[in-house]
Amino acid sequence: MPAHKRILLKLSGEALMGDDAYGINRATIVRMVQEIQDVTRLGVEVAVVIGGGNIFRGVAGGAVGMDRATADYMGMLATVMNSLALADTMRQEGMTARVMSAIAIEQVVEPYVRPKALQYLEEGKVVIFAAGTGNPFFTTDTAAALRGAEIGAEIVLKATKVDGVYTADPKKDPTATRYARISFDEAISKNLQVLDATAFALCRDQKLPIKVFSIFKPGALKRVVMGEDEGTLVHV
Ligand code: UDP
Repeated sequence: MPAHKRILLKLSGEALMGDDAYGINRATIVRMVQEIQDVTRLGVEVAVVIGGGNIFRGVAGGAVGMDRATADYMGMLATVMNSLALADTMRQEGMTARVMSAIAIEQVVEPYVRPKALQYLEEGKVVIFAAGTGNPFFTTDTAAALRGAEIGAEIVLKATKVDGVYTADPKKDPTATRYARISFDEAISKNLQVLDATAFALCRDQKLPIKVFSIFKPGALKRVVMGEDEGTLVHV
């Protein structure tokens, strides 16, 4: 039996990049989709928020003198591209997905409408939330926390390159150990980076647990959904 009925999965744009320096790697996106499909087959309702860092980040535009808000809108559009690629790959793999955008681009994707998103989830469709929160100066982590709270997800699954939250950076410190679980308050007091600060605060306020795990570890997403000891659970 899966441990969760409805989940919000946050994938960074980099999760689609594979070993490429930029953009979307075909084999990688297919693998991501298959990991998600394994979870939908358990009867779990899946919503996805995808980042855009593999294409464009607002801070990068800001760093070269662009107006930050404009650069952030470009970043949000990058997440729309990733969302379309993800939904299309899902279609090819025999899944049904719907992309809903926080920014109106009606000819391309339908707008985010909460009741409709809930309906799709109940119908067993994967819902991909594109364009982040729709506002500059935020991140897709915050979009994940926001949409997760809105749709009543039981947990936000933050897919990263590292398989959880560690006592220190495991790449630099070989004695670093993984927390199996940690409370929001402990994570704050130990200054551990789980999600960006706004997203973290929102989850904490809404008592929405977060699981940090590695999407690059085959089968990890399924083990997380089954409630097995995988990654780090951040709990209230
Ligand atoms: N972004 C934004 N508002 C949001 C979400 C995203 O302005 O609500 C922009 C921001 O510029 C960000 C970019 O979109 O850098 C891509 O999102 P993010 O950096 O979260 O992607 P990830 O790092 O997860 O790939």
